[in-house]
Amino acid sequence: MGVEYKQYLLPKEHSFQPSPKQLESLINGLYEQGWLCRPGSEDFAKLDFSLMSTFAKAKETGGFRNEPNRKDASEPIPYPLKSEWFAKRLPSDLRLVWPIYYFDDLKSLRYPLNQHAGYPGIYYELELQITAEYMHRCSEIIDPLSSVDCQCGEKLLHYPENEPFFEGRIYRNCPKCGVFFDPGKFVSTCRDAWTRQENQVPGGATSCFALVVDCGKSLPKLEAETVIEIHHDLKQLVEDSLSVKCYEQYDIY
Ligand SMILES: [Zn+2]
Repeated sequence: MGVEYKQYLLPKEHSFQPSPKQLESLINGLYEQGWLCRPGSEDFAKLDFSLMSTFAKAKETGGFRNEPNRKDASEPIPYPLKSEWFAKRLPSDLRLVWPIYYFDDLKSLRYPLNQHAGYPGIYYELELQITAEYMHRCSEIIDPLSSVDCQCGEKLLHYPENEPFFEGRIYRNCPKCGVFFDPGKFVSTCRDAWTRQENQVPGGATSCFALVVDCGKSLPKLEAETVIEIHHDLKQLVEDSLSVKCYEQYDIY
């Protein structure tokens, strides 16, 4: 354990689903505030998309929609990105990825976490994860929710094929009785990767939306005294654009 790191920004209202207009506003803000490189800019020209074959689709605009199970569904993310693009695709699951290789070559891009490792060769992928049903994120340090069953007894956890995240889903509404399922009524045990201290987190890391900073093996500086967080301004941008309060959870594996 401990070779790859991810930070999730998740809505406190677990059932929250952003509208196409809200997503357009968020992505405009990501460019305006310097969290993404504008195509045609000096920094954009320095980005390296040659490291992974999947990055080829990001060469022109910096980002791509990734569906590893369905090659035909991978496509460049347009720039600028308009609400109509989302309106055409939602409520399908969408995995939008902007690879940043390498951060330390760039002059004006802002690092999305509160600190970075400070050595040459820093990279990460900024990702938006949008799903039609709840994504039930579990790992070595994030346990499953304490219940994923409807009050009528129906099992709500299922594993759809051809989805881009390789994670289970929980139905928002029970397919048998129609009752709404609120993950926030249940908890997930989340362990501190270093101290193994356990926290009971309402809703765990289950949501229909997340902004993710996937650091891969380019770990932020991990010290017992530093809590790694999404940069305050970036968290504020997400909360303002989507009109939803957020919390954070990390994963290390
Ligand atoms: Zn039910």
